[in-house]
Amino acid sequence: MFAVAPMSAGPSTAELNERREPAEEAQRRSRFLISASASLSESLDYERTLQQVAELSVPDMADWCTVTVVDEVGVARRLAVVHADPAKQELAAEYKAKFPPTEHRSRQLVDVLQRGAAAVSVTVTDEDLVRAAQSEDHLRIMRALGCASCVMVPMVVRGQILGVISLMRGQGRPPYSKSEVDTAGELAHRAALAIDNARLYREARRREGTMRFFAEASTLLSSSLDHVSICERLAHLVVPSFADWCGVELAEAGDLRSIAIAHVDTAKVEIARQMRLRYPPDAASPRGPHAVLRTGRAELIREVTEEMTSRGARDAEHLRFMRDLGLRSVLMVPLVAGGRPIGVLNLVWAESNRHYGPEDLEMMRELGRRAGLAVENARLYNEARAAVKLRDEFLSIASHELKTPLTSLRLKVDGILRITAKAERSAADLAKLAARVQGVDKQVGRLTELVDALLDVSRAASGQLQLRLEDVDLVAVIEAVAERFKDDLVAAGCSLSLVVTGEAKAIHGRWDRLRLDEVATNFLSNAIKYGAGKPIQIRVSATKTVATIEIEDHGIGISPEDQQRLFERFARVVSPEHYGGFGLGLWIVKLLVEAMGGKVAVRSAVGSGSVFSAQLPRQGKPPKDQ
Ligand code: ADP
Repeated sequence: MFAVAPMSAGPSTAELNERREPAEEAQRRSRFLISASASLSESLDYERTLQQVAELSVPDMADWCTVTVVDEVGVARRLAVVHADPAKQELAAEYKAKFPPTEHRSRQLVDVLQRGAAAVSVTVTDEDLVRAAQSEDHLRIMRALGCASCVMVPMVVRGQILGVISLMRGQGRPPYSKSEVDTAGELAHRAALAIDNARLYREARRREGTMRFFAEASTLLSSSLDHVSICERLAHLVVPSFADWCGVELAEAGDLRSIAIAHVDTAKVEIARQMRLRYPPDAASPRGPHAVLRTGRAELIREVTEEMTSRGARDAEHLRFMRDLGLRSVLMVPLVAGGRPIGVLNLVWAESNRHYGPEDLEMMRELGRRAGLAVENARLYNEARAAVKLRDEFLSIASHELKTPLTSLRLKVDGILRITAKAERSAADLAKLAARVQGVDKQVGRLTELVDALLDVSRAASGQLQLRLEDVDLVAVIEAVAERFKDDLVAAGCSLSLVVTGEAKAIHGRWDRLRLDEVATNFLSNAIKYGAGKPIQIRVSATKTVATIEIEDHGIGISPEDQQRLFERFARVVSPEHYGGFGLGLWIVKLLVEAMGGKVAVRSAVGSGSVFSAQLPRQGKPPKDQ
């Protein structure tokens, strides 16, 4: 069954055949094979049973025996080194620890692993040992363990080479015979079957576990509509079965934000959090979470070496953090929704000293897809809910706002009707009539403004905001707006000054005149509304390319947090009982200014007033008056 390849000059196959063995020897060998088989079929823990087989092989088959197995990722590992002499067991352990098969200088074992054919060195001389030894230490241990005859048999099943069993005999014992080599071959074959069975069983169990895991994951991920708690559940789902610790990060404004961290050792959550805070991952790095987010490709670091850790540390403190966390193996997979990465799932093996492999990668990629979808659904759901809430709030504000001029209009019209119903009207009646009609005109004007604002919103929302660009003098527009607000300024007790910086009396640019008017109107009406009783200043200035308008009031001011959202749709910072308004003015201003290529800004402090500004590019049109 196994080719016998003599590896050193020794007796030929014919010579081996000549050595006839007594019947009882043959019986002993078959007893050995039976007990080895029994041991191999006893359990599916092949690592343990192979150790038992090695123990069974001594002293009958060998003085000492080694078992080498190629693991699932293709690395040859020494599973057992056993010596018949208990006094030499320590030496055997030293041999196992110091000379892993992959580092052997002698090609013999590697050849057996590659070719799948047995290697027999019937007689091994001390010169052979000297040649095979890779160091003095190696030679010392080999001599001490004793090796005068040696058989290496491959464990092969379904065409796959799963490992090698090596049997060694020292001086004073007969060298291996043909039938012993056959027995060793048979032993290796049975061991290979046992490994194969155990691996198939493990694979089936793993698949079953994976299915169970995904069933649990699906339930867990769909049991919340809050994306933060989904991320927290996700982190706790994988710890401890699939990671010692896990971090979930989501893409936000072009960066990654850490949303959840779970660790087997809760005390270490804080270390992980601190490290993330102090040493955020480098966004430009070709590796790490940002790269996973950019490319949508997972990253697997099977073995984090000491060298990698010290190379990756940015300073001594960072190194300490990494050592405290004791990273051994790392897996980063993207959270994907709609085919696009929206975050990263970071998994780490540390204290349990395990390693990620290709099957973990596949499984976690799938988890990343499912979790990404759950996170995105929750986000969309909440956005939709917030939008509906905002719309409802807006509708109630809008009806309230529209109702105010309507009520006043109703009163004025009633007054007019009463006067016109009189048979005769006095001069005083006519004067009242005129005043009421003026009142009606004012309220109709207010209603028109409100309806116009609503129309702007719907146009802007449907992307139909159209600009009519022409040559416009910004100073003239501001002056016209100020003129229109004369009465309101007086009524609010505000003085208004207009400062035009530079020598020019006019600032020309290519803008939409009516939209510019709307921008200035919104700024000024807000300054009057929120800065009543205090002076207001409008400053207009320009460079060759950009014109700036600033409106400063000394009113109630706005807190830094509120400044962030002022320009959003329906943003109202003040209570509706104290101040009216749709909360749309600044949103429209921003849209208009941006449509003309400019930008808006606010500087403010609560209690001391605000400065709203708009910067408008003049689009290269040479001003006439410069
Ligand atoms: P509204 O029609 O409600 O005034 P705006 O979009 O014009 O809507 O303004 C949004 C919010 O910004 C207002 O509700 C108010 O709270 C705040 N705000 C605007 N301008 C000023 C200002 N000059 N001083 C203080 N707060 C202001």
